[in-house]
Order: sequence, then C-alpha cells, then structure tokens
Amino acid sequence: MNSPGLNKVMRAMVLDAPREPVKLRCLPRPQPAASELLVKIAACAICRTDLHVVDGELPDPKCPIIPGHEIVGRIAALGSNVGNFSVGERVGIPWLGWTCGKCRYCRSGHENLCPAARFTGYQIDGGYAEFTTADARYCFRIPDAYSDVEAAPLLCAGLIGYRALKMAGDAEKVGIYGFGAAAHIVAQVLRHQGRTLFAFTAPGDTAAQEFALEMGAAWAGGSDLPSPEPLDAAVIFAPVGGLVPAALRAIRPGGIVVCGGIHMSEIPAFPYDILWREKRLVSVANLTRRDAEEFLTLAPQIPVRVTTETFPLSCANTALARLREGRLIGAAVLVPQH
Ligand SMILES: [Zn+2]
Ligand SMILES: [Zn+2]
Repeated sequence: MNSPGLNKVMRAMVLDAPREPVKLRCLPRPQPAASELLVKIAACAICRTDLHVVDGELPDPKCPIIPGHEIVGRIAALGSNVGNFSVGERVGIPWLGWTCGKCRYCRSGHENLCPAARFTGYQIDGGYAEFTTADARYCFRIPDAYSDVEAAPLLCAGLIGYRALKMAGDAEKVGIYGFGAAAHIVAQVLRHQGRTLFAFTAPGDTAAQEFALEMGAAWAGGSDLPSPEPLDAAVIFAPVGGLVPAALRAIRPGGIVVCGGIHMSEIPAFPYDILWREKRLVSVANLTRRDAEEFLTLAPQIPVRVTTETFPLSCANTALARLREGRLIGAAVLVPQH
C-alpha cells in the first residue's frame, strides 16, 4: 500500500458530544484500509443533516466525530484492493458510506434503507478536515464542468433533492417548502423539465423569495399563505412538521407530499379530510449509488448552477449558525485551504 503522510497530521473540526460547538484539532492523518481511498479535501458543503448531528437531533452518532458528507477532493493514496481509481483523480464522497450488500434492501435496489448502512459524518469521520478516508465503492467522479466548491453541494443537496423530486413523479405543478441548498438545485431541474415551481419560504423571508424567483419559481411567498393554485406535488425540505398539513391542503386529490429531510419537528394533528381523496404522504431516506450516478450525469447537462458561500474550515461553527438561523443564500461550503 502506498502510504504517504504516515505520521503526518491534519486539521479537523471535531464534535466531541452533541450540542457542543465543533472544535479545531490537530489529528493524525487517517490511513486508507484495503478498500478505501485517502482523499485530500478541497471543499465540503454543509448540510442541514450536519446541524441535526451537531444539535443532537439524530440518535447515536459516533463521538467524537468529524462531521460533513458533501466532500470533494483529490485522491492522495489508494488502499491495496482499490483498482478503479488512481492517485490525483478528483472524487466526491456522499452521505451513504457503506452498506451490507446482502440484506433484502441491498439486493432489491433499496440500499438507502439497509439497516446496517453507515453514513459519512455520522458513523464515519467526514469532511470537516484536510483529509479523510472513504470506501472507494461509494465514491464518485465529479463532472469537469464544476469547480470543487460548486460540486460539493451536489453531493447531498443535489442528490437528496433529486431523489425527492423522483418521488414526486411526473407532477407538473410542484410546491417546495423551504428554499435552501436542495431547493435551489431542484428548482433548476424543474425549470429544465418545463415544470412549474411554487416556492414557499419562512413567512417574511423576502430574500429567500427573491432567490427562488431568480432560480425560476413562477411564484414565491410565505408558507403561511395558501397555494395560488392546487399543486400536483409538494416537497418539504424545511424540518418543520407544521408544514405537512399546509402541504396536504395545497395539493390536489391524488397528489403527493414528499418529506425530504432526515429529521422534522413533530407533525401536528390534522383532520383526515386533508389526506383523503387518495393523497399520499411519503418520506425520502438517504440515497442510493444509482441516484448519484443519475444526478451527476444530469446536472452538467442542464447545467445546474450552484450558489455558494465559502468559509474557512475553522469557521464551521459560524457557518452552522448561519444555516440554523436561516441566514444563508444557497449552500455553505467549508474550504480547508481558504
Ligand atoms: Zn444491506
Ligand atoms: Zn446531507
């Protein structure tokens, strides 16, 4: 095995325990196992799931953990069993870090539901660092059209957004609740496909509404407003349970509401009448490698443009706070060599 960097160190932002700030540490540079890549990180986007990990809203993270699962970097070393990548190649590392390959879900194209799955930045150290290791079978080449910083948000905001949109089927009038990183990518896919987008933001968030209109929304307004037209589908990216009844009211009979997040506050009780008439309420969990292959092929064809704000690695807490407070346009991206 090629082992440059043995005994070398790296900077990383580490979560010692939930509900604490992440802390800057100097750690030994990780070494790739036989099936792994060692990747020198160029950019790592910040996902709302990172906030749920840091804020203790997801059960049993590995602790201490290096968060971050929208990683773009270049291969610095290969494990002894890796044959399909070479040193220096650019790769992306997403949320899905490992699956068993044997269970009913893995064998039926639903590896996103594998009960033994392990996730980057949650059970496996992730991208808030200068280097990371990742199982090569779950890494992807990044389209040349994208810079490192632009490509990073494609790896979760893009992939999960794409999976959520696939769940919405062939809906023509699509509502999106919560206009952050995932929504601004999905908006461009919808526009490319000739569908009509209605963007629902936090009430009074005129900056997000203007951003949604720039990204191709036909209408943008507060989530406290009724939809101007009956929707065929609604996708909820904001982690706010109260949006579920609002979205069910906004869709037509036979329509679908897709919850795109990994965590949501409690859904308030609602009358059966707003679900009746064959409306469906579903969630999206994780991603499959097939989602990644499809979306990373589609994105440069549209082409999806990504709006980002960059932060040095040491400013991860500032970036997380901005996301928590809803004060970001597009996606926050950590850049180790800022
Ligand atoms: Zn499995
Ligand atoms: Zn994510």
